[in-house]
Amino acid sequence: MNSMDDDISSSENDEPPGTGFTQPSLPGILLSTAFPSKDPFRRHATKKMRAAPRRSVYTGVISFTVKTDPHKRACRANSNAFVSGERALHFRREHFPGISDREWNDWRWQLANRIRDLAGLERILCLSDEERRAISEHTGSLPVAFTPYYASLLDRTDPLQPLRRTVVKSGGENLVLQEEEADPLNEDGDSPVPGLVHRYPDRVLLLTTGFCSVYCRYCTRSRLVGNHGTETGYNMKHWEDAAAYIEQHREIRDVVLSGGDPLTLPDGRIEWLLERLRRISHVEIIRIGTKIPAVLPQRITPALVRTLRRYHPLWMSLHFTHPEELTPETALACGRLADAGIPLGSQTVLLKGVNDSVETMTRLNQGLLKIRVRPYYLYQCDPVQGSSHFRTTVEKGLEIIAGLRGHTSGYAVPHYVIDAPGGGGKIPLLPNYMENRDGANLVLKNYKGNLYRYPDPVSPAQAKHPSGDARGEAL
Ligand code: SF4
Repeated sequence: MNSMDDDISSSENDEPPGTGFTQPSLPGILLSTAFPSKDPFRRHATKKMRAAPRRSVYTGVISFTVKTDPHKRACRANSNAFVSGERALHFRREHFPGISDREWNDWRWQLANRIRDLAGLERILCLSDEERRAISEHTGSLPVAFTPYYASLLDRTDPLQPLRRTVVKSGGENLVLQEEEADPLNEDGDSPVPGLVHRYPDRVLLLTTGFCSVYCRYCTRSRLVGNHGTETGYNMKHWEDAAAYIEQHREIRDVVLSGGDPLTLPDGRIEWLLERLRRISHVEIIRIGTKIPAVLPQRITPALVRTLRRYHPLWMSLHFTHPEELTPETALACGRLADAGIPLGSQTVLLKGVNDSVETMTRLNQGLLKIRVRPYYLYQCDPVQGSSHFRTTVEKGLEIIAGLRGHTSGYAVPHYVIDAPGGGGKIPLLPNYMENRDGANLVLKNYKGNLYRYPDPVSPAQAKHPSGDARGEAL
């Protein structure tokens, strides 16, 4: 085993701000270490640049045109360079005119230049009075912060644009209802050691960091993330304690790395974690929960992918919210992960005014399949404090599932679940397709509402109904 210090020494230049391993860095300081001159990714990309034809859209260091399907186009892009979609290009020219392709496509530059104060927000968005007030009054965890890349997807003038609502604080967050909790899933109550949640019999959740590249306004862990105290609260001592706990509990076969966002950690830290877990013989699979491909796709570098693929079986749960997140950049990032043999599932939170329609969810899920991501979970929004403006009814969620099932590919239909308040775990919800029982037949309703009978043998218990007849009443 490498010592912790040995292991991290080669990756110090990858250190993003606020990951719990450095003191918070000023962007300027970070930038000075952001471009190691011997970075193999850059050397290779530069070589490719000489060979590639220059057309209309930059790919980081080469160019190509995005006129056809952006997803196909992204997948054809050079394997080491990165892409920029039209939207990001326009945004960069307007707001970061002096920034090169190389800088823009460097994830450390993106992190160091996050938009995270009122002045920065005012430069790129026309804030409403309500947004301005909510942001300027903000204190504590879950600050407003997002990458320049994600900023390029936001509407400059419309506070109700779905993506903008998910990252720009509004007055709705200040309303806290009685049924809302700071820790609605009682994760703290199921934590045997700091940063480890052990709720289900055979799997655990390891909170690796309190840092995210973008802070979602509906975050279930809003009590933890983006809070200076907790960003520095998770450290390798906590990771080692969590690993020791997993080692002692042989029933744990599945470890989910979450946070915060684990992929904001430098490669060396991620590798340390994966290597440490892989040395525990009863850990069968490792999963990483991340929003990075949607908000900072530049982070999915060839070097990171090479690291990840050494630790199979490795799965990933990606957090997507809306079809407007499905850009050429995201397609390339997901393509790199899928090519490395990492099964990709998406987790989406159902949000009022953001994605609560059959049409939006169909576009999102069909788009995800095109970039090889399987829609996995659709979550009813947790009753976390200040979330009432995002929460919609369960009836709406069921309507969306009914609008997907049968109407599009089964792979595009996620499991709709409520994570039970208080820590009961995920409970699946389905529209009712079973109308009643008619003797030995089940009466079922298909996706068009037509009724069909299925011969379902009655069980012995049903056959011995006191009346002496097989039961035929409606269920
Ligand atoms: S990326 Fe995940 S952990 Fe971070 S703010 Fe969004 S929902 Fe919360």
